[in-house]
Amino acid sequence: MADTTDFCLKPGLISVTEAETRIHEAITPLQHAQILPIKHCLNRILAQDITATSNIPSDCNSSMDGYAVAFNDLCDHQNRLRLCGTSWAGKPYSGVMKPGDCVRIFTGAILPQAADTVIMQEQVTQTDGMIQFNGQIQHGDNVRYPGEDIKSGDTVLNAGTKLGGAEIGLLASLGMVSVQVYRPIRVAFFSTGDELRGLTETLQSGQLYDSNRYTLNALIEQIGAAPIDLGTIPDDPQQLQDTLINAAESSDAVISTGGASVGDADFIEPLLKDIGSVDFWKLAIKPGKPLVFGNIRNIPFFGLPGNPVSVLVTFMILVRPALTRLMGQTPGQMLHIEVPLAQSIQRSPGRQEYLRAQLNYDNNQLNVKPLPFQGSHIMHSMIQANCFIVVEAHCSSLAQGQLVKVLPFDTEI
Ligand code: AMP
Ligand code: MG
Repeated sequence: MADTTDFCLKPGLISVTEAETRIHEAITPLQHAQILPIKHCLNRILAQDITATSNIPSDCNSSMDGYAVAFNDLCDHQNRLRLCGTSWAGKPYSGVMKPGDCVRIFTGAILPQAADTVIMQEQVTQTDGMIQFNGQIQHGDNVRYPGEDIKSGDTVLNAGTKLGGAEIGLLASLGMVSVQVYRPIRVAFFSTGDELRGLTETLQSGQLYDSNRYTLNALIEQIGAAPIDLGTIPDDPQQLQDTLINAAESSDAVISTGGASVGDADFIEPLLKDIGSVDFWKLAIKPGKPLVFGNIRNIPFFGLPGNPVSVLVTFMILVRPALTRLMGQTPGQMLHIEVPLAQSIQRSPGRQEYLRAQLNYDNNQLNVKPLPFQGSHIMHSMIQANCFIVVEAHCSSLAQGQLVKVLPFDTEI
């Protein structure tokens, strides 16, 4: 479906939004579950809803080191109570607290039956087994109630959730040893280009190291998928065809880099037409225009451009969401923020652009500055950047101070 801004796109190119929609529609989540100990579940996607079978906390306990009291007793005894015992975390007070009594209590320890309030130890003076309380005290201070965090019967995690440290900790707090997760998807990838060499080879004039495979390997691992590296393939149609078929037979998704454009050594799109099907080719995105998407025997295929920055941009914007969907993860929206531009931008419209840029704090005010080198072969500006500025296809200029859409790479700048 064409969007309303399509009229401003370069002819023959589809919009990023349309590409996102088509990829989304073409991908069906793979849902092969397996049971794994929670220790091995980092970055896995839950395949079951998790329902709490107990309350957390399980009992009334103290959130402070202090003294457990019955609030009404304080008035009756002029804030002076007799110390009758101790409640430790894991070893509750076993006696009975009577009117006029209090119990020494530590963080996480169960409150004695008669107590309803904990007074922090800093508000207390102790003499001859008697405790004098000072300062403001409210009924229920420093008490944690059963089920205050999680109630038995609550669904605490849904299938489709990615498991990080917090989720794994939550599973452990519910006493879950193992859970059902989806098995990692296998993502096969290769590079194509006669000029590409392995890292241990000596480069001749015009040759360069195949860096894209290392980038892809890292990006695929980072999302919790299993990379299958099929190597560097020359610009040879027969070898490329064999590799594509082999890739589709051994994986759940295939990615190539290079050879996706219109040059005489670019074979990816015509080959995909022959052995699979092309959904779209060429996008109104900068960098990353010559991108082909389709499938080979129902295995999704992404033919990315060869330039290293185009690989990073198209992976982040289009491939990563597609792979996470394939993995069974519930889709989320990529975080973006609106930030004032530190300097004006002039550009030729027609493609949605992802400008490498730096988010900076200037006198505690956040602003964003595009980096000077934006060529799709310039890796160093990708390293200097901590975000992309997203400029819409129709836009030809942006003024200094104007709010722009920014995709931060990380939480630290
Ligand atoms: P292509 O998309 O094949 O036309 O390649 C575009 C540019 O990206 C060329 O300058 C290539 O040399 C470069 N390139 C292609 N593949 C790789 C790769 N795997 N690693 C580094 N650079 C590459
Ligand atoms: Mg090439």
